[in-house]
Amino acid sequence: MPNITGHTELVGLMAYPIRHSQSPTTHNLAYDKIGVDAVQLAFEVDNDSLKDAIQSIRALKMLGANISMPNKTVVHQYLDDVDEAARLCGAINTVVNTRDADGNVTGFLKGYNTDGMGYWQAMKEEGIDCKGMKMVLIGTGGAATAVAVRGALDGVAELHLFNIRDKFYPRGEEIVDIINRNTACKADMHDLGDKALLRELMGQADLLCDATGMGMHPLEDRTNIPDPSYFHPELIVTDTVYAPRETVMMKQAKEAGCTRVYNGMGMMLFQALIAIELFTGKSAPVDYMKKKLGI
Ligand code: NAD
Repeated sequence: MPNITGHTELVGLMAYPIRHSQSPTTHNLAYDKIGVDAVQLAFEVDNDSLKDAIQSIRALKMLGANISMPNKTVVHQYLDDVDEAARLCGAINTVVNTRDADGNVTGFLKGYNTDGMGYWQAMKEEGIDCKGMKMVLIGTGGAATAVAVRGALDGVAELHLFNIRDKFYPRGEEIVDIINRNTACKADMHDLGDKALLRELMGQADLLCDATGMGMHPLEDRTNIPDPSYFHPELIVTDTVYAPRETVMMKQAKEAGCTRVYNGMGMMLFQALIAIELFTGKSAPVDYMKKKLGI
C-alpha cells in the first residue's frame, strides 16, 4: 500500500468498463519499487466524458493516463501531439503530460501506443531484432495493428497480414496501405481462408505473430494454424494471448520443433513498463515485475 501524502502524484486509467483491469496493480507495484511517489487509479470514462477527463490531466497536473476502449481511437483529438506509430495505427493507449527542463508537468499532452512498443521490446529482451525480418501476422485488430506499424517503422522488411473476412478485414487493407506509404517495409494483406498461401508464407517467414485472441477463452481449444506441418523449426512463434500461458498454436509450434515460442506476457509487461517510464522518466524494474507477475 503506497504512503499517500499531499505530494503524491496521479496517473489515470480511463476506459469503460475498467473495474476488472490489472493495470493499477501493475503500475502501483512498479511506482513503489522505483520510489516514485505516484499512484494509478482507474476511472470509468467513455467517449462522452473523455474530453473533460483529458482536460483534467492538465487541470490536476496529473502525470498522464493510460487509455483503453472505447477511447483509444478517439482520444487524439484532445491531445497536443501524437507519436508517429500511434498516429499511423490510429490508436493511443498512453497519454503523457510532458515535462519541462525542471521536471514539472507542462500540460502539453502527447499520445503513444505502447502495445506495439511492448511487443517489440519483449522480442528484444529475448535477443530478437526485427530488422530485415519476414513476418506473418494474423489479425488486423488493435493489437495486430500496433505490432505491425511499430515493426514496420523499426525495420521489419516484409509483413504479410492475414485475417478472416470479417469487419476487421478492411482495416487490414488500410494498415497495409499506410505501412507501404510511410515505411520501408513491404506489406500485403491476405484472406486467412487461403491456407495454401498461409503455408507458403509461413515457410518463408522468420517470425509469426497471432494477434486474434484465438486460443483464449472462449476459443481456448482453437488455433488459426491447421496443423504443425505449417511451422518450420527456425520460425519464431509469438501469441499476444497470455491466458492461458500456452495456447494451442504454441503447442503446435513446439510439436513442430520450434524452440523460440512466446506468449503475450512479455508484451503485456513491457507495454506497461514503457508507459511507466514515459510517465515518470525513470527506468522500470523489469526483473522485479517479472517475478511479481510470475513471468
Ligand atoms: P480486436 O477485437 O481489436 O481484434 C480481434 C482480431 O481477431 C481481429 O483481427 C479479428 O478479425 C480476429 N478474430 C476474431 N475472431 C476470430 C476468429 N474466430 N478467427 C480468426 N480471427 C478472429 O482485439 P485486440 O485488442 O486486437 O486483441 C486481440 C488479442 O490480443 C486478444 O487476445 C487480446 O487479449 C490480446 N492482446 C494482448 C495484449 C498484450 O499485452 N499481450 C495487448 C492487446 C491485446
